[in-house]
Amino acid sequence: MEYDTKQKKEVMDELKKSPVALSASQIACNMKSTGASTVYRILTQAVSDGTVSMSVRGRTRYYSYLGGCHHLHATCMQCGAFIHLDDEISNDISNLLEKNGLAVSPESVISCLCPQCRGKK
Ligand SMILES: [Zn+2]
Ligand SMILES: [Zn+2]
Repeated sequence: MEYDTKQKKEVMDELKKSPVALSASQIACNMKSTGASTVYRILTQAVSDGTVSMSVRGRTRYYSYLGGCHHLHATCMQCGAFIHLDDEISNDISNLLEKNGLAVSPESVISCLCPQCRGKK
């Protein structure tokens, strides 16, 4: 699949500077010259090569930049905060799932409620 390298870099930059997971349309809003369909195409490619993780909230897909992370990640179902888990916690979770025959990778994103959103309840 071909895409403009400069556009891809801009999409990745938007994800890198955001503390929360972003949807394709949110990214497109921040990028003046690039349409949502192009952003979506770039994101889909980045998910398949493991650069970006995808999580679903409601009916919308949200994306986060992974870079070279080797630990697991969590995303808040309410505010979309993207959390990098400690290596130690990641290993514990991986080992527990492994006992059930399940394999996880950095692209596996755990849906949860962050401390702030839990506090609001
Ligand atoms: Zn939250
Ligand atoms: Zn990470």
